[in-house]
Amino acid sequence: MGDEMKIPQATAKRLPLYYRFINNLYLQGKLRVSSKELSDAVKVDSATIRRDFSYFGALGKKGYGYNVEHLLQFFRRTLDQDETTEVALIGVGNLGTAFLNYNFMKNNNTKIVVAFDANDRLVGTEIGGVPVAHIDDLEEKMGNVSVAILTVPSQEAQGITDRLVERGVSGILNFTPARISVPPTVRVHHIDLSVELQSLAYFLKHYPL
Ligand code: ATP
Repeated sequence: MGDEMKIPQATAKRLPLYYRFINNLYLQGKLRVSSKELSDAVKVDSATIRRDFSYFGALGKKGYGYNVEHLLQFFRRTLDQDETTEVALIGVGNLGTAFLNYNFMKNNNTKIVVAFDANDRLVGTEIGGVPVAHIDDLEEKMGNVSVAILTVPSQEAQGITDRLVERGVSGILNFTPARISVPPTVRVHHIDLSVELQSLAYFLKHYPL
């Protein structure tokens, strides 16, 4: 960690976006990129990009831009691209099934290795190459998982969260509408898709571009 700790959170959130684009440039054999090109591609203004990149210790030269390989090495190190984070998914309903079929590995360093559900018809099957186990066996079958995706009905969210925390999970991506409580050592990212959609519609109506 060390250096990366100093990166502001807003900058850190844009890192995967930069990483994906820079990796594509690298694969195309490009050696350098200007902040203008980056800005057009990732839709972040170039002043922000220059500031973000200064945190990465990458100083673009006027008329030259940034060295693609250096940036890529930095992003790989920072995002631990060489190390895969194992993820569990709880709740193999419509949304959960979609996630299992979606290959997160394509441009990411996370992998769903196991799924859990209470429905006996799902238990023992494989979806998107991921085995589905019974929720009663959560503690036993979680292995090295440190991150969990929650796609269960909201009334189940807190109970399952408590078990996950007890089992040592350090990050939860909560797709249920429920607000879950965790100890301060556990990070929760909450994505409520219907609220996000509603909010987009609201902004379009009241703050048209
Ligand atoms: P989605 O909200 O993902 O579209 P859905 O409408 O298909 O889901 P839900 O009722 O939200 O179905 O349930 C999602 C999944 O969670 C189902 O497969 C259900 O069997 C599972 N589930 C329900 N309770 C539990 C539980 N306590 N532990 C694990 N899985 C559960």
